[in-house]
Amino acid sequence: ASWFGHVEPAAKDPILGVTEAFLADPSPDKVNVGVGAYRDDNGKPVVLECVREAERRIAGNLNMEYLPMGGSIKMIEESLKLAYGEDSELIKEKRIAAVQALSGTGACRLFADFQKRFLPDTQIYIPIPTWANHHNIWRDACVPQRTFRYYHPETKGLDFASMMDDIKNAPNGSFFLLHACAHNPTGVDPSEEQWREISYQFKVKNHFPFFDMAYQGFASGDPNRDAKAIRIFLEDGHLIGCAQSYAKNMGLYGQRVGCLSILCEDELQAVAVKSQLQQLARPMYSNPPVHGALVVSIILGDPELKSLWLKEVKGMADRIIGMRKALRENLEKLGSPLSWEHITNQIGMFCYSGMTPEQVDRLTDEFHIYMTRNGRISMAGVTTGNVGYLANAIHEVTK
Ligand code: PMP
Repeated sequence: ASWFGHVEPAAKDPILGVTEAFLADPSPDKVNVGVGAYRDDNGKPVVLECVREAERRIAGNLNMEYLPMGGSIKMIEESLKLAYGEDSELIKEKRIAAVQALSGTGACRLFADFQKRFLPDTQIYIPIPTWANHHNIWRDACVPQRTFRYYHPETKGLDFASMMDDIKNAPNGSFFLLHACAHNPTGVDPSEEQWREISYQFKVKNHFPFFDMAYQGFASGDPNRDAKAIRIFLEDGHLIGCAQSYAKNMGLYGQRVGCLSILCEDELQAVAVKSQLQQLARPMYSNPPVHGALVVSIILGDPELKSLWLKEVKGMADRIIGMRKALRENLEKLGSPLSWEHITNQIGMFCYSGMTPEQVDRLTDEFHIYMTRNGRISMAGVTTGNVGYLANAIHEVTK
């Protein structure tokens, strides 16, 4: 017997499987709309100009010293302004405990570990559906999970009534995971009015909102607008948690740079909470990586580079919004009897098309179009060059 004989291969990640199959397909027509990363109109990965410039400024000046245990102070400061508002009183009052995290995933995980350690009797309510990794994160942190209803398959929009019911029926003081904007995988967000009602009900029930904000700026093109849900909760006087990621909105995917923040009642509490977050990180990875944090703080700390970033993030959002329009128009022009309104109503990287797993299989087998079987189309993979082909194939398998 060997030490590892009992170790079975882990289940394949459905998204990575899609990419593998795509790469192995020799067809010149093949399209990958499974990717979770932005592509330009030629289907190529993008490094933002503001990032290139920040790296030029770093070159030669960077030493390789450790960051402080909680990460880059400057990066955290800029991240808080982005999430909580440039002139937020909460920042001035030092009520926010925040640490640099290993991108959005690491921020979620650190929060889940914090929740397990300091609020061991709580559970986490997770929307159905959600980014699959949310389930893994809270599972591995040993926090029990509950779900709440979110998406309505018929309208391909928000099931607001059911969501509100589930919020009302959860025990007082429950923890909820909310996508701050550009819900993954559905692309369905509550309206501003609905967020206000949700926030109100959270107050009534004394629930705690944890916002996963992986797409700030990437959804509408305006980081302030995409932070609207958080700002509404802040106006209403909630304490909140927030995971920020620079993967999508700065294209820093592989740099793993993000921020976890927890709004506390006062500065004393924030100091204690921050010290405990650091304590949680210490035996896992000691302190976070320096390069991406430097890129972010240079960009956000320099008015000129920041406005370049704002322009570039809007450019990405606009391209995606444009492709939504084009995909919908193409389907309508083909005479599809179905409604494709949801393509333009949904927002962010993904379009939850409503196609069945069997229809997706046909797209792949007959048209060399690759995506996850839940019908999620990554709009980042749609280009001027393939949108017509894609629309035609969708029409063929759905008519
Ligand atoms: N949350 C959501 C909802 C996401 O879609 C993603 C990226 N797929 C993340 C968090 C985390 O991404 P990262 O760890 O690369 O920042």
